[in-house]
Amino acid sequence: MTLARTWSVGLAGVHGAMVDVEVDLSAGVPGVVLVGLPDAVVRQSVDRVRAAVVNAGGRWPLRRITIGLSPAAMPKQGSGFDLALAAAVLAADGAVPAASVEQLVLIGELGLDGSVRAVRGVLPAVLAASRAGHATVVVPTGNAGEAALVEGVEVLAAGTLAEVVAHLRGRAPLPRHTRGALPPDAPGPDLGDVVGQPIGRRAVEVAAAGGHHLFLSGPPGAGKTMLAERLPGLLPPLDEQAALEVTAIHSVAGTLPPESPLVTRPTFEAPHHSATTAALVGGGSGLIRPGALCRAHRGVLFLDEAPEFPRAVLDTLRQPLERGSVTISRAGGSATFPCRAQLVLAANPCPCASAAGDTACTCTPPERRRYQTRLSGPLLDRIDLRVDLPAVTRAAWLEAGTAPEPTAAVAGRVAQARAAAAARLHDTGVSLNSQVPGRLLRERWSPPRPALRLVERALERGALSVRGYDRVLRVSWTLADLAGRTVPGGDDVAEALGLRLQRTAA
Ligand SMILES: [Zn+2]
Repeated sequence: MTLARTWSVGLAGVHGAMVDVEVDLSAGVPGVVLVGLPDAVVRQSVDRVRAAVVNAGGRWPLRRITIGLSPAAMPKQGSGFDLALAAAVLAADGAVPAASVEQLVLIGELGLDGSVRAVRGVLPAVLAASRAGHATVVVPTGNAGEAALVEGVEVLAAGTLAEVVAHLRGRAPLPRHTRGALPPDAPGPDLGDVVGQPIGRRAVEVAAAGGHHLFLSGPPGAGKTMLAERLPGLLPPLDEQAALEVTAIHSVAGTLPPESPLVTRPTFEAPHHSATTAALVGGGSGLIRPGALCRAHRGVLFLDEAPEFPRAVLDTLRQPLERGSVTISRAGGSATFPCRAQLVLAANPCPCASAAGDTACTCTPPERRRYQTRLSGPLLDRIDLRVDLPAVTRAAWLEAGTAPEPTAAVAGRVAQARAAAAARLHDTGVSLNSQVPGRLLRERWSPPRPALRLVERALERGALSVRGYDRVLRVSWTLADLAGRTVPGGDDVAEALGLRLQRTAA
C-alpha cells in the first residue's frame, strides 16, 4: 500500500469541519510535498511528525511523500493535525493497516519525543466528527474529558504515538474514555458577604433578573468588585446545550480546567484595563483565540476602572454586545464567536482613586468631571442600570445588624422574575426584558399612563433620551417581575428612573 487516508478536524471559531488527510508515497527524490493550503504551522508540523515517528521507534519512509489536506479551500490552522498526519504516513508505508485509520478521526499535537500533546478546540472538533457520522476519535489524554462530553462517539485517549501505533496494529487497544460524573459546583462568592450597600445589592439583583448591563460608580472600598463578582451566582445555571456552547469557547481559548471539562455555571471574566483589543475581543495568530468578551458568553464581563481602558478598546465592545456575536478576521481566515455577555462597568469618582472626601485627593473639579465623562457616549447608552455607591462607613457596618440576604434567597427571586418575563415574551423570540426591542416595548408593554407620568416629564425636560425612555420601561418590567406584579406601577417606574439617572443625565 502506498496510499492511505484518515481524518482530522479544522476549526473556524467554534465550528469544526472535517479535514480529509491523504498521503501518497512514490518513487523519486525523498521529500515532502504539501497540497491543500496548509498554513505555516502545518508545514512545521511535518518536521515534528517526522521526529516523533522516528523517536517512537518507527521508520520515516525515504520516498517522495505527498500529503493532501482537503477541502483545500479551508484554512488549516493549528497543530492538531500532527497525529492524523503521522497515522496516514505510517499507513501509507504499511507500518499500520490502512483500513485501521480510514474511518478514524485523529486529533492531537506531537512532541518531538513522540508524546501526544493536548490542543485547543477538541470539544467543537469532536462535535463536528460526531455530526459527520464518525464513530471513533483519538484525542490527547489531556483533552479526553471534554471530548467525552459529546454523545454517541467513542473517545480513545492517547498519551504517545507508540500507543496509537500499538492500537492500530491491534496489539494494545487505547483506553476508552467515558463521560464522568461532574464534580460538585464549588460555591461562588456569596451576596451574604456584602454588608450595607442596599442600592448596590438591589442593582445586581435587578441586573440578574432582567439581563441588564450595569454601571457601578463609587470610591474604592465601596464594594463594586464584590458586588460584580456575585452577579454570576444570581444567574440561573447553564442548561446542557448552553453549557456545551460555553465550554466550546473555553476549549478554543485553552481555558478549560482539565478536572472539570464542562462549564455549567455562568462565567465571570475580569480583564485588566491594560488588556489589548485582542485580549478583550479575540485575535492572535494561528488558531484565533476568543477574548474575555467571548469567554464571558452567557456570563458576566466585568471591567473594573472602566475609564482607564483605552476608548478605542472599549468601543470595539459596542457592536458585539448589541449583536451577541463577534467576527475576528485574520490573514488566515475569520472566526465568529458568540458573546452574549452581561456587562458590568465600575469606575472610581476621580482619576487618583482616593476615597471621596479624602484629603489625599488632589484632583480638581474639572479633572473629576473629565474622568467621569470618559465613558460617555454610545457604550454608556447601552447600560440600563447606573448606580452611585457611597463609601461604606464604619457606622453603616455597625448598624447593619441583621445578616444580609444570601445569594440563594436572591437567586430564587431572580429565577421567578425570569420565568415571568419569559412567559410574557414567549412569542417574541427573546426571553429577557433587556432584549425587548424598543418599538415592541412601546406597542405591547407600555405601562398604564398614570404610572408613566414621572418618566414622561423626564423626557419632556430633556433629562432622558428616547432610548433612555425605553430602557426605563425595560427596567420597570424587571422590577414588576421581581415583585410578582403583572404590570409595572408608578413605584416601579420611579425606581427604574432612579436606577437610570444616578450620576449622569441619560
Ligand atoms: Zn482624586
